[in-house]
Amino acid sequence: MKTDDLASGVAEGGGHLDERLAREAAELAGRILETALREQKAGERYHGWKLNRMLGDPNGKAFVISLADQIFRPQTPERAASQFRHLMARFGAPAYLPLHERAGLLGAAAASRVAPELVMSAVAGKMRAETRKVVLPDEDLDLRSHMKRRRAMGARLILNVLGEAVLGEEEAERRLEANMAKLRRPDCDAISIKVSSIFSQVNVLAYEDTLERLKAPLRKLFRAARDNVTASADGSRRSKFVNLDMEEYRDLRLTSDVFRQILDEDEFRGLEAGIVLQAYLPDAFPMQRELTDWAVDRVSRGGAPIRIRLVKGANLATERVEAAVHGWAPAPYRSKAEVDANFKRMLHYACRPEHAEAVRVGVGTHNLFDVAYALVLREREGVAGQVGIEMLEGMANHQARAVEKLAGGVLFYAPVVKRENFDNAIAYLVRRLDENSAPQNFLHDLFGMRPGDGRWAAQRERFLRACRERHGVSSAPSRRQDRRREAVDCARRQSFGNAPDTDWSLECNREWVAEALRRRGRKAPDIIPLQIGGRVVVTGDEAASCDPSRPEQEFYRYHLAGDEEVDEALAVAVSAARNWAKHSILTPRELLIRAAGELARRRGELIATMVSDGGKTVPEADAEVSEAVDFANYYATGMSRPGMHDGTAAVPLGAVVVAPPWNFPLAIPCGGVLAALGAGNAVILKPAPETVLTAWELAKGLWAAGVPKRLLQFVPCPENEAGRRLLTDPRTDAVILTGAHDTARLFKG
Ligand SMILES: Cc1cc2nc3c(=O)[nH]c(=O)nc-3n(C[C@H](O)[C@H](O)[C@H](O)COP(=O)(O)OP(=O)(O)OC[C@H]3O[C@@H](n4cnc5c(N)ncnc54)[C@H](O)[C@@H]3O)c2cc1C
Repeated sequence: MKTDDLASGVAEGGGHLDERLAREAAELAGRILETALREQKAGERYHGWKLNRMLGDPNGKAFVISLADQIFRPQTPERAASQFRHLMARFGAPAYLPLHERAGLLGAAAASRVAPELVMSAVAGKMRAETRKVVLPDEDLDLRSHMKRRRAMGARLILNVLGEAVLGEEEAERRLEANMAKLRRPDCDAISIKVSSIFSQVNVLAYEDTLERLKAPLRKLFRAARDNVTASADGSRRSKFVNLDMEEYRDLRLTSDVFRQILDEDEFRGLEAGIVLQAYLPDAFPMQRELTDWAVDRVSRGGAPIRIRLVKGANLATERVEAAVHGWAPAPYRSKAEVDANFKRMLHYACRPEHAEAVRVGVGTHNLFDVAYALVLREREGVAGQVGIEMLEGMANHQARAVEKLAGGVLFYAPVVKRENFDNAIAYLVRRLDENSAPQNFLHDLFGMRPGDGRWAAQRERFLRACRERHGVSSAPSRRQDRRREAVDCARRQSFGNAPDTDWSLECNREWVAEALRRRGRKAPDIIPLQIGGRVVVTGDEAASCDPSRPEQEFYRYHLAGDEEVDEALAVAVSAARNWAKHSILTPRELLIRAAGELARRRGELIATMVSDGGKTVPEADAEVSEAVDFANYYATGMSRPGMHDGTAAVPLGAVVVAPPWNFPLAIPCGGVLAALGAGNAVILKPAPETVLTAWELAKGLWAAGVPKRLLQFVPCPENEAGRRLLTDPRTDAVILTGAHDTARLFKG
C-alpha cells in the first residue's frame, strides 16, 4: 500500500469505526435502491430498459453517438439527410431499439430522399425529445415549468448553459450574457460555469494575464449573484450562487487561483461561491487542503464560507488523449479503485466539523454507495447542515427522488440549451454516455441492478475496498515533468518513441521557459558568420534580420556568401562526401542519437530563439523542437528497423544542399540535414533569410553533438545569382528545398 505525508496526515478515527460506517452505508445504499425501484415511473422504467440494452449493443451506441454528433451540424436539410442515410447504411437500425423504432428509422431513411426537410426535422426533434430529461430545453416556457415542478418537490436547480470552450470574445460575451440573464431570473438560484466558457483566450503560459482577464467577466457574474437576492426555503433572503466547474487538468490551478483572488476582493468577502474538485486527480486532495486553509482564514476574518462540489471527474477520455498526444502521463489516477479511495479521503476531510464550517460540500455522485456514505458520515460528524448531495438532472430521477427524501434535499445540476444551439449539448451527452458504458462505473450498472444481485455485489465490494484504502492512496501528481531538472535520455534507443512536448500546465516549466526567453531577450547576437570547411568566414556583405513582432527594429545581422564562398563550400562538400568515414569517428547512427540528445538539451534555447527570430509562440516552438528530436531518433532507429537492409543498399548522393523555409525554421532544416547526413552525404545548410539565427543555433547544436564541420557547412546566401548557383551547380548532387513553387522557380537552372 502506498502512503505519503498527506495521506497519513489525515488518517483519523479508529479503523473499526470506519469499517462499521462503510457497512452501514452499504446497507443504506441498498435501501435507497429498493425505494427507487419501487417508486420508479413507467416512463423511467422504459427509458432505463432502453439504455441498458444500448450498453450491451456497441454498434447501437456508436450509431447514437454518430447521429448526435453529425446531424445537427450540416447547414442544409439535404446534407443532414445524406449523412443520416450514410449512418444508417453504415450501422443499420440498432438492434437494441424496439421493433417499431427500428422500422421508423428505416422508413425515415427512405423518406429522407424525397422530403429531407420534413424528415430531418422529425429526426432532430426525436433526438431532442429523447434527451430533454438530461439536457433541459432553454426555451422560457419549458424551463420555467420544469423549474416550478422541481421547486414544488422541494429540490433546487443549478443551471449550466451548455457549450464547450469558447473560441472568440464575441461568443464569450454572448455566453456571459446568457449566464447573467439566468441570474436575473427570479426562479433561478444558482448557475455553474467554467472558466473556458467566459474567456476565449485561456493560456496558461500567459498565466498572470489570463488570471487578470478572467476576473472581469467573473466580477460581473459575482456582482449579479450578489445583487439578485433570492428567498430561501425558510423565508430568509440570500445572494444567488455561482459555481466554477472543473474540466481540464490544465485549468485546475488557474480556476482555484482566480476563485480565491476574486473572493478576496472586499466587495465579495460576504459572497458564498463554489468550485469543483475532481477526485480522479491526485492533485485534488492537496488542492482541497489549500482551499480549506484559505477558507478557514477567510471565515475567521468575517468572510462567507465557500462551497466545494466533490466529484470524481468526467473528462477521463480527454485527459488520456491529450496525454497520449503530447507524451505525458495522464493527469488522473490509473485505476477507478484509486479514484474511489481518494473520493472517500476527500469526503472525510471535508466532513470534519472545523472544515465544514468554512467549506460547505456538495457531494456530486450517482454512486448510491457514495451517496449513502456521505449521508452516514455527515451524521456521524454532526455536519448534516453543511454537506449536501448533488445529482445530474435526468440521469436517474427515480434514484434522485429516493435520495432526496432521505437527504432532505438534492441540488440538481441542470444543463440547458436553446433549440438552435443543440449542437452545444453533444459533447455533454457523449460524456454522459461514456460514463454509462465504462464497465466498472456505477452508472453502467445503474439500470439493470437489483440489491443483492451480482452487479450490486461487485459495486459493494469496490466501495468497501475504497473505504479501506483511503489512507493509502497517493496524492503525488501524475504529471511531473520538470524541464529544469530532467536528464536527457541519450541511451541507444532500439525503437522509436516521440519526444514529449513541454507540459505548460506545470509552473516549473513555465518558469523554465520564461528564464530562457529572458536570457535570449532582446540582446542581438554577434554578427552571424558563415562556416565553410571548419573555418569561420566573414564576407563583409551583411544583411539584417528583425524579430517579426517588432519589425521596426533590427535584431541581428549576418554575413552573406558570394560566388567565391559558394565555390569553396561546394568543393569542401564534394570532398567531404567522398571521405565521410574519414571525417567522422562516429557512425551515422551514433551521430543521429547524439544529435537527438543535444537538441533536447538545448530545448529552452531553441524555443527562445524561434520566438524572437521566427515569431513563433512558445508552444509552437516547443512542438518544433520535439519534431526535430523525433527526426534524429526516427532516422537513428530506422537504420536498424527490420527489413531496412533486405538486399537493398543506401548509396549516398554526395553534396546535398538543404534550403528550408522560414515558417518551420528548426524542424524542417533539421529533418533535411539529418536525413542527408544519416545517408552518408555532406550537407550545406542554406538558411531562409528570415530565420538565419534559428538555423545557426541548429547548426551549432549539431556540431556540438559531434557532426564534423566539413560534413555540415553553414552558408547563408542571397536569393540572387550566388544562391541560384549553390542550388544549381553541377557539383550539387541533391537539393532538399521546402518552399513555394515560385521559390523553386527562382533556382531553376
Ligand atoms: C452534480 C454533479 C456535478 C458534476 N460536475 C462535474 C464537474 O464540474 N466536472 C467534472 O469533471 N465532472 C462533474 N461531474 C461528473 C462526475 O465527475 C462523474 O463523472 C460522474 O458523476 C460519475 O461518477 P459517479 O461517482 O457518479 O460514479 P462512479 O461509477 O462511482 O464513478 C465513475 C467515475 O470514476 C472515475 N473512473 C472510472 N474508471 C476510471 C479509471 N479507469 N481511471 C480513473 N478514473 C476512473 C471517473 O471519474 C468516472 O467518471 C458532476 C457530477 C454530478 C453528479
